[in-house]
Amino acid sequence: MKPEDITNIIVTGKSGAGKQPRIDVLVEEFNLEQLSTGDIFRFYLKKFNEYNYSDSLDVFWDEDNNRFISDEEISNELGTDNPDVILGLKAKYFVDRGLFVPDYITNALFESAFAKKNYRKQVLDGYPRTLDQSKFLLELLEKHNSKVDFILLVDNSDERIIERTVNRRICPKCGRVYHLIYKPPKDGRCEVCGVEVIQRSDDTEEKIRSRLKEFREKTLPAINYLKEKEIPMATVPGHLEEFTPENVRKSVMDAIEKIYSEISIE
Ligand code: AMP
Repeated sequence: MKPEDITNIIVTGKSGAGKQPRIDVLVEEFNLEQLSTGDIFRFYLKKFNEYNYSDSLDVFWDEDNNRFISDEEISNELGTDNPDVILGLKAKYFVDRGLFVPDYITNALFESAFAKKNYRKQVLDGYPRTLDQSKFLLELLEKHNSKVDFILLVDNSDERIIERTVNRRICPKCGRVYHLIYKPPKDGRCEVCGVEVIQRSDDTEEKIRSRLKEFREKTLPAINYLKEKEIPMATVPGHLEEFTPENVRKSVMDAIEKIYSEISIE
């Protein structure tokens, strides 16, 4: 499989399964970029956090109609009509509860980011995560004469993920990931940036359990739909006994080779 043969790849798995090291391999091996909906939401969350609004977000949610109050009402309540801040508020409402952001918001943000990349040469990280998103993606690809070559599923057990995620710390500047036990940040700082590492606001046990439930109920059907549409899928273990860069690379490349050898046999 040569880099120029690959158009796009989906990397999927439970939140906290260990997708990032596998994505790093794919980006390098196939000259791709990473397009992560989680990162897009964190960008808007930051815009909202910088706005320094500390009251509860419940007032923005219309319980009876199961949707946000209008943007005009949000803007009056918040005291700003900055669209990035309003989007950040909407994302935060869900992300902080360990819930998926609604499809109409996620699909629109994803489409505009994917369009900027001409719908090509991306590792899709954390998208699609629902059936509606899978359908939206396939329509988008067809419309723009593009494709997904294969799906890489990073598999890991719930218990291991919980242990991994509550101990996870990240560098707010470069996104480098640390683990308090296995890869502790020296003096609590990023080894590259020197900045103090932080815990993601959604990395608590309660929120992780909620994300795992979302995965079972929403993402599994989304993946099954893509499989039914005959997009090949390979699974790699998120946990390796010996977690070295060489072993991660080998497990990813072996899984991909298996897909393509099976395709050529058929
Ligand atoms: P991640 O970093 O991929 O775990 O994403 C962090 C959070 O962003 C998730 O827990 C969701 O709340 C939200 N999110 C990211 N991607 C999606 C998506 N495709 N659909 C809905 N919500 C998403």
